Order: sequence, then C-alpha cells, then structure tokens
Amino acid sequence: MTRGNPCQLPGMLPNYDPNDNEAGMKILEDLTENVEQIQQRVLEEIITRNARTDYLKGFLDGQFDKQVFKKTVPVVNYEDIKPYIERIANGDSSNIISAEPIIELLTSSGTSGGQPKMMPSTAEDLHRKTFFYNLLVPVMNKYVDGLDEGKAMYLLFVKPETKTPSGLMARPVLTSYYKSNNFQNRPFNRFNVFTSPDETILCSDSKQSMYCQLLCGLVQRQEVLRVGAVFASAFLRAIKFLEDNWKELCSNIRTGHVSDWITDPGCRKVVSLVLNKPKPELADLIEHECSSKSWEGIIKKLWPRTKYIEVIVTGSMAQYVSTLEYYSGGLPLVSTMYASSECYFGINFKPLSKPWDVSYTLIPNMAYFEFLPVKEKNEDGAQYVQCNGVCKENCMEKETEKEDVETVELVDVKLGQYYELVVTTFTGLYRYRVGDILMVTGFHNKAPQFRFVHRRNVVLSIDTDKTSEEDLLKAVTKAKVIVESLGILLIEYTSYADTSSIPGHYVLFWELTSKGNNHLPVLDPKIMEQCCSTVEESLDSVYRRCRRKDNSIGPLEIRVVQHGTFDALMDFCVSQGSSVNQYKTPRCIKSGEAINILDSRVVARFFSQKAPFWELV
Ligand code: AMP
Repeated sequence: MTRGNPCQLPGMLPNYDPNDNEAGMKILEDLTENVEQIQQRVLEEIITRNARTDYLKGFLDGQFDKQVFKKTVPVVNYEDIKPYIERIANGDSSNIISAEPIIELLTSSGTSGGQPKMMPSTAEDLHRKTFFYNLLVPVMNKYVDGLDEGKAMYLLFVKPETKTPSGLMARPVLTSYYKSNNFQNRPFNRFNVFTSPDETILCSDSKQSMYCQLLCGLVQRQEVLRVGAVFASAFLRAIKFLEDNWKELCSNIRTGHVSDWITDPGCRKVVSLVLNKPKPELADLIEHECSSKSWEGIIKKLWPRTKYIEVIVTGSMAQYVSTLEYYSGGLPLVSTMYASSECYFGINFKPLSKPWDVSYTLIPNMAYFEFLPVKEKNEDGAQYVQCNGVCKENCMEKETEKEDVETVELVDVKLGQYYELVVTTFTGLYRYRVGDILMVTGFHNKAPQFRFVHRRNVVLSIDTDKTSEEDLLKAVTKAKVIVESLGILLIEYTSYADTSSIPGHYVLFWELTSKGNNHLPVLDPKIMEQCCSTVEESLDSVYRRCRRKDNSIGPLEIRVVQHGTFDALMDFCVSQGSSVNQYKTPRCIKSGEAINILDSRVVARFFSQKAPFWELV
C-alpha cells in the first residue's frame, strides 16, 4: 500500500484488474505487509469523514484525533446504537452516524428483541465488498490450476426484503449484494463463471430458484469445476432437494422442457436456453447415478470434474463436515472468507487446509479492527476448545468485564490469545462488538490470522439461526407453563443441535416429574407437541424464518428422559473436569458422549407439528 498509489478509489480501495492474478496477489501482499500504517489510515479516514456526525460529535467534541477517539468513544453493543439505527429507519437523516448517506439497512442473523439487528450500508460499501470478493480469486488460483477452464456451480439465493418506514431497503447482506449493480453488471472474469444464470439466483421463490439452479448445474455438469454455496447448511439443503427432485429434473433434461410450476418468467426463459433441447443420454446418466442406493460420493459422480466444494465449514458450520465428506467423495472443503452484515473481515489464505485448521487473515483496509482479550479458561478451568464452533460443556465464556478491559490493535494481538472482535467501519459503526470470539493462530506477513472459535452467547445453530442460552430459557419457560398447569414439573433441561438428518433440528431433553409424587407423569402427546410448538413460537425471527420460510430447520423435538438422567450428566461432566461445587447444568450439549448418556435414557419423543408464525417486518 505504500508503494505506488494504491488508493485510487475512495475508502482506501486499490484499483486493479481483477482478471490479473499477479496484481491481486501483490495487493494482498501489500495489505498484509503494511497492516499498521493501513489501520492507522483507515481510522484517520473514518474519523475525518465522520467526526461531525451527531454520534461522534458527542464524544470527540470537534477533535479529529485518533487517541481522543480511542479514549472517549465507548466500545458498544447493538443495544447502544439501536436508537440511532431506529431513528434512521424512521426517517431521520443518516448523517447522525455516517457522513456518507446510508442507502440501506442490512438485516443480520443476530437478533435484538427477537428481530434481526440492522446494520448500516453505503454505496461505497458495495465497492468494498466487490474488492474483497475479487481478492478471493487469486488466492484460489494460487492453489488450484485451471479454474478458467470451466464453471462454478454456486447455489446462491436471495431472501425476503422489506422497507423501513422511511423507505430504506432492509434485507440480508447477500441479498443486497446479489441485487446490486456490482453483482449483476460485474465485468466478465474468466475465473468466475457461474452455471446459475443471475435470473435464477435473483428469483425470490426459493423453491423455483433451487430447482432452476440445480437444473442448470446438471445440464452443464461436464463444465463444472467446483460446486458450493455460502454456508455448508445451504449446500446440504441443495443435496436433499436433489434427492427429493432428481426424477423430475431428469425428466426436464430428457424432454428439454422446464416443469410447468416454474412460473418465474426470468427463470423459465434462461433455464430453457440452458436446457436448449432434449438430452436423453444425459438424463439416463444422471438417473443412473441418482438411483444408486448409496449417495456416498454423489458430488463427484454427478460433477466429475469438480476440484473442491466451496462452503463455509468453520464456526457453527463445522457440525456438517462429516456429512459433506460423505457426499463429496473426498473433495476438499474450502472456506474462503469470514464476513458479516457489519463488515467483510477476512480471507483464508490457505484455502485447501482442513476445516479445523482454517484461519482467516483480516484485511486491514476493510475497517479499523480492535480486540477485547477474552479469558482463556472458564470458572472450572476448562480450556476453550473448538467443538462444533462453540465451546465444550459449560460452553459460555465468562462475559468480558467491558469497563475495565482495554482493546488491543490488530498489530498487537498475541499468538494463541482469544479475543472478541470490535470494529469501526466506514458505514457508521464505531467500536462495535461483533460478538465473535477469535483465536490468533499465526501471521501472514504482518497480518494476524485468526481461527473462528465461536460466537458469543450462541448455544444452538442449525442454519443462520443463532440461539442464545437466554433465548432458549425464555422459550422453555413459556412452554413449561403448559405442563405445569397439568401438575407436571420440568426439573431440568438441556439441548443440542441434531444434524444427523437434513435439515437439522433442535432437540430439547426434558426431565419431568409429577407434582408431589416424584414419578414420571403420563404424558399426553398432544400437550407435549404443543410444548414443542410453543418453544418454536418463542424463538427469534431468524429461527422462525429458517423453520417456516426457508425450511432449513426441521421440527423441534422434545425428548423426555427418565429420572436421574441429569445426575448422570453431572457425574459425567465432573469426571471430565468440571468442579462439583460450581457445576451448572449445561444448557447445550456438544460432546457425543454426553449426548449418548442422555439419549440412552430417553423414554418418549415428541415433535412440533406446525411451523411457527413468521412474517417480514
Ligand atoms: P450475519 O451478520 O448474519 O451476516 O452473520 C455474520 C456472522 O456469521 C459472523 O459474525 C460470524 O459469527 C458468522 N460467520 C460468518 N462467516 C463465518 C466463517 N467463515 N466462519 C465462521 N463463522 C462465520
């Protein structure tokens, strides 16, 4: 960044030809060599632009100084900035937090008061995202040859969007990007040619979108060099969809006609073009593979030239690694990037590394990064361990004492240390706690690399849902009222994310007793199913959307366990190093052994019989 003039574009974005691999790699080398200077310049630029916003003015009092910024601007959570976001959503000028106009609000999968958090976004921010996506290409090319000799079957989807009272678009970050000019009018890049026509990605009916994208991917199977989706959960959903629909897909390929229920005009038109004419031989071949009893290695069979599967398998997505490995036939699983609605953060410079070895290098011109040190051990002295993206056993880290903990800068993080990420963005977030816990694993040039450890306070996650211990407690509290009215007490509960089938679902283990006599009560299935539904109705809107609209979460299950099960669980946890005095029932279980202890004592299972209410607000 110091050589030449790397910042031709506003917002510290270097300009270069994305088809030029060498130029891309050089930019990455410059960015990672000059971390300190770049971070300082990013902060300077953000302060200079925004010092006069209502928000910063209140702390900086007209000063443009970085030290004053760090001394006076507080490290905040969403609740602290929510009033500002809500004012903007309701029509106040966005310059209360950002000098550059906020053009839309990005609805995050993190929630506040049950509704998605909303993150500000600007026109320039789309360019920042494009810059970031472009940099993924040379990194991949460094490790995999010939990606310009075929196509990528990426299954990408848009989600429902809404408008705020002031008329601003409110939608998820990827929906915003796919609908932008930056995506739709992207210059041709020979390393990044997709099998899915944009019309199929942009189709708002997720079933038609999925069907059409798979159809296009199957028709072009000989050209496909890589397959993927953003998250592992979405890719597995596509495999399940294929399992349920391959006969119809083959019939379309055989006849050259798209099914009548594909009514989206854009989709019909482009898919008909891709189908082109009847292809009976291709249909036979796909039918042959799909009708095989075992779907082990199906990806390699259907798309024989595939070199890897591009899906995020870190964090909560790690729970899908073994299922993906089963379907993939040994293909590498590639997590390319770490990003959020707040900001795009980091790139995996070793894309072929095993899922548990993946680290992301934070890109220093994306935002100004700070880090809150997190204690490595919890009360019981148990080390943090990556275990399906959340910590083992009593899995919550102790809340960092916000007041007396100072942040450290990107260049000052220490190898092996755990931190919570704090960002100051170009879009109006200042010293904002993202909620992700990261561990420093090494350095790429001078840029630290981080393993994603887990998200603060999240105990359950199947897709993009993020359920905290508190959310779960609230939902269980509502449901237990139903059994209490019948003289039944819930004496203990815990949970786990069951991903053994697609889609995965939440499981609650309940130990129940009759009031007074301490016996396992007789349970009415209807009542227990109502409990399952009540828990679902009480979870946040992202859970309910995944469950109802996206069908990416299956019906919630309550498994009633026999008396003494939770004592057995405690004995197990103590045998694993938990202290007896401080033992608290873990509200979420990750360890296979602990799940076996519970499962072997299950006396009855009940499932929710209806999807919970969800609407776009
Ligand atoms: P959202 O705000 O809904 O876009 O969700 C962003 C969050 O998803 C991040 O803060 C992380 O908790 C999680 N996330 C995103 N990318 C990754 C990744 N590569 N590995 C693990 N977790 C991720």
